[in-house]
Amino acid sequence: MFMKKILIGTHNMGKFKELSFLISNKIKKISPKTLKIKSPKETGKTFSANAILKAKYFSKFTKLPVIADDSGLCIKALNGKPGIHSARWAKKYGGFSNSIKVILKRMKYKKNRSAQFVCSLSYKSPEGKIVVVVGKLNGKISYDSKGKKGFGYDPIFIPRLKKITFGQMSKIKKIKSDHRFLAFKKLKKKIKIL
Ligand code: IMP
Repeated sequence: MFMKKILIGTHNMGKFKELSFLISNKIKKISPKTLKIKSPKETGKTFSANAILKAKYFSKFTKLPVIADDSGLCIKALNGKPGIHSARWAKKYGGFSNSIKVILKRMKYKKNRSAQFVCSLSYKSPEGKIVVVVGKLNGKISYDSKGKKGFGYDPIFIPRLKKITFGQMSKIKKIKSDHRFLAFKKLKKKIKIL
């Protein structure tokens, strides 16, 4: 039987797994690794600019529809950082656990621990149509790194109305409530086949 395919434009396994779970199980999910495509340079100044840049880049290598994500953690008391540089911070400080340590240290005496996880998702059809949507989830930064279930900054983000970090939450609960899920819900309204 013919099965529709989509390229999920990310090398981040955490994102790949979440998006694979959200996209219809009637669609076969392809990773850029399978097609031996590297990641583009993220030169955009906003999450949406980077999400579009990624979708355009990956679609140059394939005739498949492409979905791409740019996301990150924006912390109010740190003027929105690490924001669009969330992945770069981890690289700069030698991994996520170090980047998390840097954040917790900078947050040590901050009263306002408000933060937001942001996700821009873009979709590019084989015909060239591009759609971009944004999902934002409010929460706060925990005092310690807690939980091993998620990826990236999950161990220090407590979503609003919850008492545990994303790192402590079951994967399914996180996937069905996070910033990527909120963006995906908007995208699915526009791109029905997803
Ligand atoms: P980029 O979109 O490739 O620039 O990378 C975004 C970075 O933000 C990821 O490498 C993660 O560190 C972080 N990030 C984005 N979404 C999540 C999430 O759902 N949980 C934890 N960290 C995330």
